[in-house]
Amino acid sequence: TMRESYTSENDSGFKCLKPELRPIVVVGGYGQLGGLFCRLFELSGYQVRKLGSQDWDRADEFLSDAGMVVVSVPINLTEAVIAKLGHLPEDCILADLTSVKSGPLQAMLEAHNGPVVGLHPMFGPDITSLAKQVIAYCDGRNPESYQWLLEQLQIWGASLNRISAIEHDQGMTLIQALRHFTSFVYGLHLAEEDPKLEQLLSLSSPIYRLELAMVGRLFAQDAQLYADIIMSSPQNLAMIKRFHQRFGEAIEMLDNQDKQTFKQAFGQVEHWFGDYAQHFLIESQGLLRQANDSTHR
Ligand code: NAD
Repeated sequence: TMRESYTSENDSGFKCLKPELRPIVVVGGYGQLGGLFCRLFELSGYQVRKLGSQDWDRADEFLSDAGMVVVSVPINLTEAVIAKLGHLPEDCILADLTSVKSGPLQAMLEAHNGPVVGLHPMFGPDITSLAKQVIAYCDGRNPESYQWLLEQLQIWGASLNRISAIEHDQGMTLIQALRHFTSFVYGLHLAEEDPKLEQLLSLSSPIYRLELAMVGRLFAQDAQLYADIIMSSPQNLAMIKRFHQRFGEAIEMLDNQDKQTFKQAFGQVEHWFGDYAQHFLIESQGLLRQANDSTHR
Protein backbone atom coordinates (compact mmCIF):
# COMPACT_ATOMS: atom_id res chain seq x y z
CA THR A 1 0.00 0.00 0.00
CA MET A 2 0.99 3.66 -0.26
CA ARG A 3 1.43 3.95 3.51
CA GLU A 4 3.84 1.00 3.61
CA SER A 5 5.91 2.32 0.75
CA TYR A 6 6.33 5.64 2.54
CA THR A 7 7.34 3.84 5.72
CA SER A 8 9.99 1.83 3.95
CA GLU A 9 11.18 4.93 2.11
CA ASN A 10 11.57 6.49 5.55
CA ASP A 11 14.06 3.82 6.53
CA SER A 12 16.11 3.93 3.39
CA GLY A 13 16.11 7.71 2.92
CA PHE A 14 14.47 10.20 0.59
CA LYS A 15 15.52 11.77 -2.66
CA CYS A 16 17.50 15.00 -2.09
CA LEU A 17 16.25 17.89 -4.24
CA LYS A 18 18.99 20.39 -3.32
CA PRO A 19 22.24 18.48 -2.77
CA GLU A 20 24.30 21.68 -3.10
CA LEU A 21 22.51 23.37 -0.17
CA ARG A 22 24.81 24.59 2.60
CA PRO A 23 24.03 23.30 6.12
CA ILE A 24 20.48 23.51 7.48
CA VAL A 25 20.36 24.99 10.99
CA VAL A 26 17.33 23.97 13.03
CA VAL A 27 16.90 26.35 15.96
CA GLY A 28 15.18 24.22 18.60
CA GLY A 29 16.33 21.06 16.82
CA TYR A 30 16.52 19.15 20.11
CA GLY A 31 12.78 19.69 20.61
CA GLN A 32 9.99 17.41 19.45
CA LEU A 33 8.96 18.86 16.11
CA GLY A 34 12.39 20.31 15.32
CA GLY A 35 13.89 16.87 16.00
CA LEU A 36 11.44 15.23 13.59
CA PHE A 37 12.37 17.69 10.83
CA CYS A 38 16.10 17.19 11.55
CA ARG A 39 15.64 13.45 11.00
CA LEU A 40 13.71 14.00 7.77
CA PHE A 41 16.35 16.41 6.42
CA GLU A 42 19.13 14.00 7.38
CA LEU A 43 17.29 11.07 5.77
CA SER A 44 17.18 13.21 2.63
CA GLY A 45 20.93 13.75 2.64
CA TYR A 46 21.13 17.32 3.94
CA GLN A 47 23.73 18.46 6.42
CA VAL A 48 21.87 19.41 9.61
CA ARG A 49 22.98 21.40 12.67
CA LYS A 50 20.86 21.71 15.80
CA LEU A 51 21.03 25.05 17.55
CA GLY A 52 19.74 24.50 21.09
CA SER A 53 19.06 26.96 23.87
CA GLN A 54 22.62 26.55 25.23
CA ASP A 55 24.33 27.17 21.87
CA TRP A 56 23.85 30.90 21.39
CA ASP A 57 27.43 31.80 22.29
CA ARG A 58 28.38 29.84 19.14
CA ALA A 59 25.53 31.17 17.01
CA ASP A 60 27.88 32.86 14.51
CA GLU A 61 29.69 29.61 13.87
CA PHE A 62 26.34 27.85 13.31
CA LEU A 63 24.73 30.51 11.16
CA SER A 64 27.40 32.25 9.09
CA ASP A 65 27.34 29.67 6.27
CA ALA A 66 23.76 28.39 6.69
CA GLY A 67 21.83 27.50 3.55
CA MET A 68 18.58 27.45 5.49
CA VAL A 69 17.51 28.26 9.04
CA VAL A 70 14.38 26.62 10.46
CA VAL A 71 13.01 28.03 13.72
CA SER A 72 11.15 25.52 15.94
CA VAL A 73 11.12 26.86 19.49
CA PRO A 74 8.19 27.32 21.92
CA ILE A 75 5.63 29.76 20.46
CA ASN A 76 6.04 32.40 23.14
CA LEU A 77 9.81 32.62 22.42
CA THR A 78 9.64 32.45 18.63
CA GLU A 79 9.67 36.14 17.73
CA ALA A 80 12.46 36.95 20.19
CA VAL A 81 14.56 34.04 18.88
CA ILE A 82 14.06 35.18 15.27
CA ALA A 83 15.17 38.69 16.21
CA LYS A 84 18.29 37.19 17.83
CA LEU A 85 19.47 35.40 14.65
CA GLY A 86 21.45 38.39 13.44
CA HIS A 87 22.83 38.67 9.94
CA LEU A 88 22.22 35.59 7.77
CA PRO A 89 23.73 34.98 4.32
CA GLU A 90 21.69 36.87 1.71
CA ASP A 91 20.57 33.67 -0.09
CA CYS A 92 19.79 31.75 3.14
CA ILE A 93 16.17 30.60 3.44
CA LEU A 94 14.56 31.56 6.75
CA ALA A 95 11.62 29.33 7.73
CA ASP A 96 9.69 28.43 10.87
CA LEU A 97 7.37 25.64 12.04
CA THR A 98 5.29 27.69 14.48
CA SER A 99 1.60 26.89 15.02
CA VAL A 100 0.71 30.57 14.61
CA LYS A 101 1.83 32.41 11.50
CA SER A 102 1.27 36.20 11.43
CA GLY A 103 3.68 37.23 14.19
CA PRO A 104 6.53 34.87 13.28
CA LEU A 105 6.27 35.62 9.54
CA GLN A 106 6.43 39.36 10.21
CA ALA A 107 9.40 38.84 12.55
CA MET A 108 11.24 36.76 9.90
CA LEU A 109 10.65 39.40 7.19
CA GLU A 110 12.05 42.04 9.53
CA ALA A 111 15.06 39.96 10.59
CA HIS A 112 16.21 38.82 7.13
CA ASN A 113 16.29 40.33 3.62
CA GLY A 114 16.51 37.00 1.78
CA PRO A 115 13.94 34.26 1.14
CA VAL A 116 11.35 33.75 3.90
CA VAL A 117 8.63 31.12 4.25
CA GLY A 118 6.32 30.23 7.13
CA LEU A 119 5.39 26.57 7.60
CA HIS A 120 2.82 25.01 9.89
CA PRO A 121 2.88 21.22 9.99
CA MET A 122 -0.65 20.20 10.96
CA PHE A 123 0.59 17.23 12.96
CA GLY A 124 2.52 16.47 16.08
CA PRO A 125 5.83 14.68 16.56
CA ASP A 126 4.09 11.32 17.13
CA ILE A 127 3.38 10.55 13.46
CA THR A 128 5.24 7.65 11.81
CA SER A 129 4.94 8.90 8.25
CA LEU A 130 4.08 12.19 6.57
CA ALA A 131 1.79 10.45 4.07
CA LYS A 132 -1.53 12.35 3.89
CA GLN A 133 -0.38 14.85 6.52
CA VAL A 134 -0.98 18.52 5.77
CA ILE A 135 1.59 21.31 5.95
CA ALA A 136 0.20 24.84 5.61
CA TYR A 137 2.64 27.40 4.22
CA CYS A 138 2.70 31.19 3.97
CA ASP A 139 4.81 32.86 1.32
CA GLY A 140 7.11 35.48 2.79
CA ARG A 141 9.68 36.61 0.24
CA ASN A 142 11.37 35.23 -2.94
CA PRO A 143 9.18 32.13 -3.27
CA GLU A 144 11.17 30.97 -6.34
CA SER A 145 14.15 30.22 -4.11
CA TYR A 146 12.31 27.81 -1.82
CA GLN A 147 10.15 25.87 -4.31
CA TRP A 148 12.55 22.97 -3.92
CA LEU A 149 11.80 22.93 -0.15
CA LEU A 150 8.05 22.71 -0.80
CA GLU A 151 8.71 19.88 -3.25
CA GLN A 152 10.96 18.17 -0.69
CA LEU A 153 8.11 18.24 1.85
CA GLN A 154 5.90 16.60 -0.80
CA ILE A 155 8.51 13.92 -1.40
CA TRP A 156 8.22 13.13 2.32
CA GLY A 157 4.51 12.54 1.65
CA ALA A 158 3.04 15.81 2.94
CA SER A 159 0.26 17.59 1.14
CA LEU A 160 0.78 21.34 1.00
CA ASN A 161 -1.76 24.06 1.57
CA ARG A 162 -0.87 27.64 0.63
CA ILE A 163 -2.58 30.30 2.72
CA SER A 164 -2.03 33.86 3.92
CA ALA A 165 -0.83 34.22 7.50
CA ILE A 166 -3.96 36.13 8.49
CA GLU A 167 -6.35 33.56 7.04
CA HIS A 168 -4.29 30.80 8.62
CA ASP A 169 -4.54 32.35 12.06
CA GLN A 170 -8.29 32.92 11.62
CA GLY A 171 -8.76 29.26 10.65
CA MET A 172 -6.67 28.10 13.61
CA THR A 173 -8.97 30.04 15.94
CA LEU A 174 -11.61 27.39 15.20
CA ILE A 175 -9.49 24.38 14.28
CA GLN A 176 -7.00 24.67 17.12
CA ALA A 177 -7.80 27.21 19.82
CA LEU A 178 -11.50 26.47 20.27
CA ARG A 179 -11.21 22.70 19.76
CA HIS A 180 -8.24 22.33 22.10
CA PHE A 181 -9.94 24.52 24.67
CA THR A 182 -13.20 22.53 24.61
CA SER A 183 -11.14 19.32 24.94
CA PHE A 184 -9.30 20.90 27.84
CA VAL A 185 -12.52 21.87 29.59
CA TYR A 186 -14.08 18.46 28.91
CA GLY A 187 -10.99 16.81 30.42
CA LEU A 188 -11.16 19.13 33.41
CA HIS A 189 -14.83 18.31 33.82
CA LEU A 190 -14.16 14.55 33.68
CA ALA A 191 -11.35 14.84 36.20
CA GLU A 192 -13.58 16.72 38.64
CA GLU A 193 -16.60 14.47 38.13
CA ASP A 194 -14.16 11.57 38.50
CA PRO A 195 -16.13 8.73 36.86
CA LYS A 196 -14.55 5.28 36.55
CA LEU A 197 -12.78 5.66 33.22
CA GLU A 198 -12.59 1.92 32.61
CA GLN A 199 -16.30 1.57 33.11
CA LEU A 200 -16.99 4.49 30.76
CA LEU A 201 -14.84 2.83 28.14
CA SER A 202 -16.52 -0.53 28.53
CA LEU A 203 -19.87 1.17 27.93
CA SER A 204 -18.60 3.19 24.97
CA SER A 205 -19.40 2.70 21.35
CA PRO A 206 -16.32 2.95 19.12
CA ILE A 207 -17.15 6.54 18.15
CA TYR A 208 -17.38 7.69 21.76
CA ARG A 209 -14.16 5.85 22.53
CA LEU A 210 -12.54 7.77 19.68
CA GLU A 211 -13.94 11.02 21.03
CA LEU A 212 -12.58 10.21 24.48
CA ALA A 213 -9.23 9.39 22.89
CA MET A 214 -9.24 12.77 21.14
CA VAL A 215 -9.69 14.47 24.49
CA GLY A 216 -7.34 12.21 26.43
CA ARG A 217 -4.46 12.51 23.95
CA LEU A 218 -4.30 16.24 24.60
CA PHE A 219 -3.17 15.53 28.15
CA ALA A 220 -0.34 13.29 26.95
CA GLN A 221 1.19 16.37 25.31
CA ASP A 222 2.83 19.59 26.37
CA ALA A 223 0.71 21.97 28.51
CA GLN A 224 2.87 24.96 27.53
CA LEU A 225 2.31 24.31 23.80
CA TYR A 226 -1.47 24.26 24.23
CA ALA A 227 -1.52 27.26 26.56
CA ASP A 228 0.48 29.16 23.93
CA ILE A 229 -1.76 28.05 21.05
CA ILE A 230 -5.01 28.83 22.83
CA MET A 231 -3.81 32.18 24.18
CA SER A 232 -1.89 33.22 21.05
CA SER A 233 -4.36 35.90 19.95
CA PRO A 234 -7.24 38.04 21.21
CA GLN A 235 -9.41 36.65 18.39
CA ASN A 236 -9.05 33.19 19.95
CA LEU A 237 -10.40 34.45 23.26
CA ALA A 238 -13.23 36.31 21.51
CA MET A 239 -14.19 33.11 19.65
CA ILE A 240 -14.12 31.05 22.85
CA LYS A 241 -16.32 33.62 24.57
CA ARG A 242 -18.87 33.49 21.73
CA PHE A 243 -18.90 29.71 22.08
CA HIS A 244 -19.45 30.06 25.82
CA GLN A 245 -22.35 32.42 25.19
CA ARG A 246 -23.99 29.99 22.73
CA PHE A 247 -23.48 27.18 25.21
CA GLY A 248 -25.36 29.25 27.78
CA GLU A 249 -28.15 30.04 25.33
CA ALA A 250 -28.48 26.36 24.45
CA ILE A 251 -28.81 25.46 28.13
CA GLU A 252 -31.77 27.82 28.35
CA MET A 253 -33.62 25.47 25.99
CA LEU A 254 -33.05 22.70 28.49
CA ASP A 255 -34.12 24.81 31.44
CA ASN A 256 -37.32 25.57 29.54
CA GLN A 257 -37.78 21.96 28.37
CA ASP A 258 -38.06 23.63 24.97
CA LYS A 259 -37.82 20.75 22.52
CA GLN A 260 -39.42 22.82 19.80
CA THR A 261 -36.57 25.36 19.79
CA PHE A 262 -34.06 22.52 20.12
CA LYS A 263 -35.44 20.87 16.98
CA GLN A 264 -35.44 24.17 15.10
CA ALA A 265 -31.81 24.79 16.01
CA PHE A 266 -30.98 21.19 15.07
CA GLY A 267 -32.51 21.77 11.65
CA GLN A 268 -30.58 25.01 11.24
CA VAL A 269 -27.27 23.22 11.86
CA GLU A 270 -28.27 20.29 9.66
CA HIS A 271 -28.99 22.76 6.88
CA TRP A 272 -25.64 24.52 7.44
CA PHE A 273 -23.72 21.23 7.14
CA GLY A 274 -25.72 20.40 4.02
CA ASP A 275 -24.38 17.40 2.10
CA TYR A 276 -21.45 17.21 4.51
CA ALA A 277 -23.65 15.78 7.29
CA GLN A 278 -24.32 12.61 5.26
CA HIS A 279 -20.75 12.62 3.95
CA PHE A 280 -19.36 12.80 7.51
CA LEU A 281 -21.60 9.94 8.61
CA ILE A 282 -20.15 7.73 5.88
CA GLU A 283 -16.59 8.95 6.43
CA SER A 284 -16.76 8.28 10.18
CA GLN A 285 -18.11 4.79 9.50
CA GLY A 286 -15.05 4.15 7.34
CA LEU A 287 -12.68 5.49 10.00
CA LEU A 288 -14.30 3.35 12.66
CA ARG A 289 -14.02 0.26 10.50
CA GLN A 290 -10.29 1.00 10.07
CA ALA A 291 -9.81 1.63 13.80
CA ASN A 292 -11.63 -1.60 14.53
CA ASP A 293 -9.46 -3.54 12.06
CA SER A 294 -6.24 -2.21 13.54
CA THR A 295 -7.16 -3.01 17.16
CA HIS A 296 -7.94 -6.63 16.15
CA ARG A 297 -4.70 -7.09 14.24
P1 NAD B 1 9.53 21.53 22.22
O1 NAD B 1 9.44 22.19 23.55
O2 NAD B 1 9.55 20.05 22.16
O3 NAD B 1 10.79 22.06 21.43
C1 NAD B 1 11.25 23.36 21.51
C2 NAD B 1 12.77 23.33 21.62
O4 NAD B 1 13.25 24.67 21.57
C3 NAD B 1 13.28 22.71 22.92
O5 NAD B 1 14.30 21.79 22.63
C4 NAD B 1 13.84 23.91 23.67
O6 NAD B 1 14.94 23.58 24.50
C5 NAD B 1 14.30 24.76 22.51
N1 NAD B 1 14.53 26.16 22.85
C6 NAD B 1 13.92 26.92 23.79
N2 NAD B 1 14.43 28.16 23.78
C7 NAD B 1 15.38 28.17 22.82
C8 NAD B 1 16.27 29.16 22.36
N3 NAD B 1 16.28 30.39 22.87
N4 NAD B 1 17.13 28.83 21.36
C9 NAD B 1 17.15 27.61 20.83
N5 NAD B 1 16.33 26.62 21.24
C10 NAD B 1 15.45 26.92 22.22
O7 NAD B 1 8.29 22.13 21.38
P2 NAD B 1 7.67 21.56 20.01
O8 NAD B 1 6.39 20.85 20.33
O9 NAD B 1 8.69 20.86 19.22
O10 NAD B 1 7.26 22.93 19.32
C11 NAD B 1 8.17 23.71 18.60
C12 NAD B 1 7.43 24.50 17.56
O11 NAD B 1 6.70 23.60 16.72
C13 NAD B 1 6.40 25.47 18.13
O12 NAD B 1 6.47 26.67 17.41
C14 NAD B 1 5.09 24.81 17.88
O13 NAD B 1 4.07 25.76 17.67
C15 NAD B 1 5.38 24.06 16.60
N6 NAD B 1 4.48 22.92 16.40
C16 NAD B 1 4.41 21.93 17.33
C17 NAD B 1 3.55 20.87 17.12
C18 NAD B 1 3.42 19.75 18.13
O14 NAD B 1 2.41 19.03 18.09
N7 NAD B 1 4.37 19.56 19.02
C19 NAD B 1 2.76 20.82 15.95
C20 NAD B 1 2.88 21.84 15.01
C21 NAD B 1 3.74 22.89 15.25
